[in-house]
Amino acid sequence: MLTLEGTARFVSDLHLRAERPDLTERFAAFLGDTAACKVKALFILGDLFEYWIGDDDLADPFNARICNLLRDLTDQDTRVYFIAGNRDFLIGQRFAAAAGLTLLNETQKICAGAPCVPEIPLRGQVTATLLMHGDTVCTDDIPYQQFRQMVRSKEWQANFLARPIEERRAEIEVLRRRSAEAMLDKTAAIMDANPAAIRAALIDNDCTRLIHGHTHRPGCETITLSSGTTERWVLSDWDTGRGDALEIDPSGCRRLDLTGKA
Ligand code: MN
Repeated sequence: MLTLEGTARFVSDLHLRAERPDLTERFAAFLGDTAACKVKALFILGDLFEYWIGDDDLADPFNARICNLLRDLTDQDTRVYFIAGNRDFLIGQRFAAAAGLTLLNETQKICAGAPCVPEIPLRGQVTATLLMHGDTVCTDDIPYQQFRQMVRSKEWQANFLARPIEERRAEIEVLRRRSAEAMLDKTAAIMDANPAAIRAALIDNDCTRLIHGHTHRPGCETITLSSGTTERWVLSDWDTGRGDALEIDPSGCRRLDLTGKA
């Protein structure tokens, strides 16, 4: 478990892509502010990129720009941690080394800041917090979970990464189109996080706070377990006219609204 001191920030679902320079500008401004505020740790909880076809695509000017923006931050006093999303799970050690960030597993437990809800028990002055992208708790979307299992397998990834870059790019375009079409047929409830899966994640990891993204349904709720009250924060996506970050320090949690910030 990571124990944080000072201030930490959390973002997810930025969906950065060359066709949306406004998102890159907002990301650059956010990283600049993060450095200026001497934030100790930045956690990117997946879908930083709209898609990632492999670390050998770092020469692409857009990818190189994002990598350099992160490098500028990690060269200062901020540690950056990354949990893969469903769009950028092919980010690997080469990108991590170039950007100066640390890759985490699909869930990470951290100790961070006071709870926002007074009734949540403090353990020292920190809250046992579980971080994830969020797709693993969307258990009602069975076709997605089957797809996820396939593309997260070592064999699928080794085969995919062995193909030429242009072929991979074309394949991703097909997958993106198919995913967008499939979403039209799925109800909102099916694509949302499953309450039982959320409770199980909190209980299994002995945490009193969960932070995730993926569902593009920003919010904060309290969840009462037999062991007591817990809180769940869902981060916003950045590419549908909104965007936020969560900031946590020993005094508690706050949502930073990044909309309109270039
Ligand atoms: Mn996602």
